Amino acid sequence: MANDASILCPTCQKRGAWLTQACGPFCSQRCKWVDLGKWLSEERVISEPLRPDHFEGYGELPPGEYLDDPGQDPYSRGGG
Ligand SMILES: [Zn+2]
Repeated sequence: MANDASILCPTCQKRGAWLTQACGPFCSQRCKWVDLGKWLSEERVISEPLRPDHFEGYGELPPGEYLDDPGQDPYSRGGG
């Protein structure tokens, strides 16, 4: 039995002591991103429908044109 820390890279199946690396258990940063890409593209991603409480706080914003015009500050409008 080998006494080293060799494992297989989950992405490319290359054998090496990947756990001792910063990007372990992957052999390289690239393989790490490849695996992440799988998560994003497959149905392993947990999605949640938007609910009204996700927008909590937005309702306190004053209505106005300023949303389309970054030059205007709604809080410095009017007297003061
Ligand atoms: Zn790899």
